[in-house]
Amino acid sequence: MTVAENFKKVNETIQMACEKSGRRREDVSVIAVTKYVSDERVREAVESGLFNLAENRKEGLLEKQRAIQDHRITWHLIGTLQTRKVKDVVDRIDYFHALDRLKLAEEINKRKETGQLKCFIEMNISGEETKHGIKEDELNEFIDKLEEFEHIRIVGLMTMAPNTEDRALIREVFRRLRYCRDKIRDRNLDYAPCTELSMGMSHDYPIAVEEGATFVRIGTALVGNELKGS
Ligand SMILES: *Cc1c(COP(=O)(O)O)cnc(C)c1O
Repeated sequence: MTVAENFKKVNETIQMACEKSGRRREDVSVIAVTKYVSDERVREAVESGLFNLAENRKEGLLEKQRAIQDHRITWHLIGTLQTRKVKDVVDRIDYFHALDRLKLAEEINKRKETGQLKCFIEMNISGEETKHGIKEDELNEFIDKLEEFEHIRIVGLMTMAPNTEDRALIREVFRRLRYCRDKIRDRNLDYAPCTELSMGMSHDYPIAVEEGATFVRIGTALVGNELKGS
């Protein structure tokens, strides 16, 4: 399948999910996750009108940026970042989706030269031990501590649903992320407007859109997975 064909299908699915939940299509941005594909496939994505691109690792992001230089692209780093690598990417990305600890915030703040990095706080809603992220009951305190970092702007919350076929459980995780987002948003903090929800991947983005996602992060269903031959 071409990226354009996949994108058409993803768009139709998002449109349906929006209708089902009374949302507007323009309130949902599609991020193409390119970690499993070649530079050529990424170029195809850009030509198909996908201008939000994401990688989950710093190295992958820098490689793709070197290969694909196009001012229309908004770059997202969606995976966790080691503190010592912050300096290599902090001025090269538009959004960071995996702020999950104070030390990382400190380093981003120290290294960011001008302006503010738009960050999502990664939440561990499902409570799985293997997952990164802030727990629900730690969120308020974490947000409070971010106030001193002038180069960080908390635009929203991000989560990964558990890898399960249990659709009801996935939905519950997304609902709880939205509930957390609403609570922070309603605090009306200048440094943390927290209006966005980064949730939904290839196998669960329709549910995420129904539950309020404003950014979906889609790899396999959009650009494919060349490691798995799809
Ligand atoms: C890889 C990845 C995705 C996309 O995964 P697919 O299942 O291929 O859509 C989304 N979010 C994060 C954080 C990822 O690492």
